[in-house]
Amino acid sequence: MSKGTIGVTSDNIFPVIKKFLYSDHEIFLRELISNAVDATQKLKTLSSVGEVKGDLGDTRVRVILDKNKKTLTVQDHGIGMTAEEVDKYINQIAFSGAEEFVNKYKDKTEAIIGHFGLGFYSAFMVSDKVEIFSLSYKEDATAVHWTCSGETTYEMEDTIKSERGTDIVLHINDEFQQYLEDATIEGLLNKYCKFLPIEIVFGKKKEWKDGKQVETEEDNVINDINPAWTRKPADLKDEDYKAFYRQLYPMQMDEPLFWIHLNVDYPFHLTGILYFPKIRTNLDVQKNKIQLYCNQVYVTDEVENIVPQYLTLLHGVIDSPDIPLNVSRSYLQSDNNVKKISSHITKKVADKLAELYKNDKADFEKKWDDIRLFIQYGMLTDEKFYERAISFALFKNIDGAYFNLEEYKDKIKDQQTDKDGNLVVLYTQDPDANFTHIERAKQKGYDVLLMDGELDVHAMSQLEQKNEKLRFTRIDSDILENLIRKEDSKKDEYTDEQKEGLRKAFEAVLPQDKKLNYYISFEAAAEDALPVFLTQNEFMRRMKEMSQHQQGMSFYGQMPDQYNLVVNTAHPLIQELFGKMTSEEVEEVVEKEADKAAENTENKDEKVKETVKKTVYSLSGEDERLHQLTDIALLASGQLKGESLQ
Ligand code: ADP
Repeated sequence: MSKGTIGVTSDNIFPVIKKFLYSDHEIFLRELISNAVDATQKLKTLSSVGEVKGDLGDTRVRVILDKNKKTLTVQDHGIGMTAEEVDKYINQIAFSGAEEFVNKYKDKTEAIIGHFGLGFYSAFMVSDKVEIFSLSYKEDATAVHWTCSGETTYEMEDTIKSERGTDIVLHINDEFQQYLEDATIEGLLNKYCKFLPIEIVFGKKKEWKDGKQVETEEDNVINDINPAWTRKPADLKDEDYKAFYRQLYPMQMDEPLFWIHLNVDYPFHLTGILYFPKIRTNLDVQKNKIQLYCNQVYVTDEVENIVPQYLTLLHGVIDSPDIPLNVSRSYLQSDNNVKKISSHITKKVADKLAELYKNDKADFEKKWDDIRLFIQYGMLTDEKFYERAISFALFKNIDGAYFNLEEYKDKIKDQQTDKDGNLVVLYTQDPDANFTHIERAKQKGYDVLLMDGELDVHAMSQLEQKNEKLRFTRIDSDILENLIRKEDSKKDEYTDEQKEGLRKAFEAVLPQDKKLNYYISFEAAAEDALPVFLTQNEFMRRMKEMSQHQQGMSFYGQMPDQYNLVVNTAHPLIQELFGKMTSEEVEEVVEKEADKAAENTENKDEKVKETVKKTVYSLSGEDERLHQLTDIALLASGQLKGESLQ
C-alpha cells in the first residue's frame, strides 16, 4: 500500500470544490459518466488501430445504486488505469489524460468528451469518500484500488479485479441522500446522458405483470447513441425529425413547423437540428429551450450567449466541441469561435426562411402567424437578420391576404399617399372594436392591415425608421379625412374665446377618471361626419404599448390614457351650440368683464380669461345636447361605462 499527498499546491482545494466550484452539485454524475464514456471510446479507438486485440466484450457503462452501503458506482469497461496512471491522472490534478490522448491519436480518435473542468474531482462535492477500482487494458496489468476521504491524502494499493475497466465508487454524504434515490438518478441520466454515444445502463427494464411493475432480465439502457443530429441529413425522413423532436421534448404537444439540420466541419465543428416551433405568445417561449451538447454530452439549455437572443426562441440541439465551456458567460460572447458559430446559425436560419418563402409562398403564409413573433424579434434585434428578412416578413390585411413590404407598398401607393408624399399604412389591432372605422375606410378604397401581434408596434416603428415616407396609422387615431391628408384642412370660423368656452363646457360633461385624459380639440371636418368624436394619438398610444415590453420606458406606461375629443366645427349641431353666443356677444362680455377685472388686479390677462370661461360655460354648458353628443362619442369607442351608462 502506498500513501501520498494529492499534487495540488493549495490544501484548500476540496472545500473549494465542495462549496464554490459548482453551483450545481448534480453535474458530478455527468463528469463521471463522461470519463467512463471517454475511456470506452479510447478503447474502441485503440482496438480500431490494432493496439487492443480481440473482442472488446460488454462495453456498456453502468450506474449502480447500493442503498445499504450508501454508494453510487459508475462502472465502465474502457481502457482502465494502472497505478502509475492513477498517480499521474488522478493524483496530479493538473494532468489531463484526455489532452495527452488527443495529441497522440489526433487523427484516429473518435470524439473525446470531457474538458468540463475538474471532472473526476467533482465527485467530492457529494461524497465522504471516493474509491477507484481499475484494471488497465494493458497486458499483465495489476488492478489498482485508490481511496480518498476528501482530504488531500490518498491511499493506493494493488487489488484483485477480473474485468477490464474502472469502477468509481462514491460513498454519498448524508447531506446528499437524494443521490441514492432511483428517481433522482434517473432524472439526472435523462437530463445529461440521453444522447451519449456509449450505452448507459441503469438497472433493469421494468414491465407490467399482474397489475404491478416487475423487473425483467433486460438492461435498462437510458440513452439513444445515434441521435438524429449525429446522422446524415440524407438518411433522415421528415418522420425521423419529428420523432426526434418528441424525444427531446416529450411534453410538447405541437409538431414543429420545420427544421434546419446544421452540419459544419470547417472552420469550426458544429452539428445540430434547430426546430421552428409554433410560437403564439411570449408565454409559450420559455418552456422548451435549445439544448447545448458537447460531443453528445448535455451541457446546458442556457444558450443566450452562444446564439443571438431571438434564436433562443427556437427549439432543438446544438452540438459543438468548439464552444469553450468553462469560461465566464461574458467571455463567451467575445470568443471567436462562438461569434462564428452564432453568425453561421443566423445565416442558416435566414437562408432556410428565404428558401421556404421562395419555394412555396402559400405554405409560408400558412405558417406566418406561428413564426411572426420569431421573425419580428430577429429583425428588431439583429440588423443583418433584418436585411435578410425584409423580403419575407409578411403583412396580413383584414381580408386575410398576405404581402411583403414591397408588394404592399405597391398595392396602396395610389390611394394612400398623402399630400406630403408619405405612404400611409392604415391598421387595426382589433377589427371588432374598429368596425365602423374600417367600413368607412374601405368605402373610401383604403386597405387596412391587421396588426395584432405582440411585437407589431415595435415592428412598425422600426419600419418607419428604416423607410422614409412610410407611416403607420391606426384606423381610429383620427377622423378618416385626416388619416391620409390629401389637402390642407379647412379653417374654422371661431375665435379662441368661443372655443375656450365650449372646451370648458365639454370638460364639464366628460367622465372624471384619473387613468383617462381627454384633450378637447376643434376641427372643421366634413358636415356628414359625427359632430363629436374620440381619437387617440398614434404616438402616445404606441409609446404606452411599447413600454409594456421594454425596460426604461415605464415612464410612458404610467401615464394616463390620452384621448382627443374632437369637436367638428363644421357640423350644423355644433354651429347651433356655438350660435348660442355670437362672437360679438363674447367680445362684449369680455370687454365689460375685463374692465372690471382690470380695476382690481395687476394680472389683467389671467383675470379676463377666467371671466370669459365662466360666462361661456354658463351660457352653453347646461345644454342637454352637450351631454348627449359626448356620450355618443364615448359610446362609439367603448368608453361609456358603469354609472355613466345610465
Ligand atoms: P478530464 O476528464 O477533464 O481530463 P478528469 O479529472 O475527469 O479530467 O480526469 C482526469 C483523467 O483521469 C482523465 O483524463 C483520464 O485520463 C483519467 N480517468 C478518469 N476517469 C477515468 C476512467 N473511468 N477510466 C480511465 N481513465 C479515467
